[in-house]
Amino acid sequence: MREDELAGRLRHALETGQLVAYFQPQYDLKTGRVVALEALCRWNDPDEGLLMPDRFIHLAEQHHLIADIGRVMLEESGRRAADWHRRGVSVGLSLNVSPSELDAGFAGRVLRRIHELGLAPGDVTLEITESPAMRETDEEVGWLQELIDGGAGVSIDDFGAGHTSLDILRHVPFTELKIDRSLLADPSEGVDALVASAREIAHARGARIVAEGIEDEKDLARVLAWGCDRGQGYHFSPPLPAEQLGPVLESAAG
Ligand code: C2E
Ligand code: MG
Ligand code: MG
Repeated sequence: MREDELAGRLRHALETGQLVAYFQPQYDLKTGRVVALEALCRWNDPDEGLLMPDRFIHLAEQHHLIADIGRVMLEESGRRAADWHRRGVSVGLSLNVSPSELDAGFAGRVLRRIHELGLAPGDVTLEITESPAMRETDEEVGWLQELIDGGAGVSIDDFGAGHTSLDILRHVPFTELKIDRSLLADPSEGVDALVASAREIAHARGARIVAEGIEDEKDLARVLAWGCDRGQGYHFSPPLPAEQLGPVLESAAG
């Protein structure tokens, strides 16, 4: 399919509710309890089936549809999270945000919508992917700080993937640091040293550190040795459609 054709279909998908949120549980590594759910976007295409973000997020960026995806995800997952809370399940909600969605009005819009959905800002963490698109200008830093000042969480996602430096942690405000799973795949001591430094900076700032992509016992042992606060990965659970979250929500409530 040609790219502009695919972009047209994505626009249609956004308008007709074909974009859905899957949820992957995040665990407190000390208590073993589910403490949050990360919303991950899926495109339920009537012809092609379930499409993963690597098929369309990049396209959405290029065709200025990424903010629309962000809005749909906040609406859908926010409504579900408010419902879980009403049923006594207090789990946090993490949403992925592309740096290109950030602008002067972003924090205000998101905080207002969180409130209207019946959630508290502290229930929601916005995961910003660490990427070259993140410009780390004073302006951008200010917009992220506005989210934190409003009570929401800001997570630096994919820390350690490619273009990392510890420098970003000194410039950008954050309440959570998410270690990219590529670091788990690299057994070198250099990685352990990088994570140790990152953890020190994060904890000194009062931020938590989360490991993603924990696939087996060996990964989990390393993540525990790193001193991570939370973990996420296939070892615990894959991302699930909301209808299949029953047991996860029960364990979070119990
Ligand atoms: P991410 O935010 O870093 O999400 C983690 C990705 O790792 C997810 O891929 C998840 O399904 C996958 N994963 C989880 N556990 C494991 C594991 O144990 N092993 C392996 N190999 N993979 C694991 P997914 O859902 O395909 O999403 C890919 C990326 O697309 C996300 O990376 C995020 O950057 C982006 N994305 C997803 N949903 C949204 C969205 O609503 N908005 C924006 N802007 N980006 C999104
Ligand atoms: Mg993420
Ligand atoms: Mg990530």
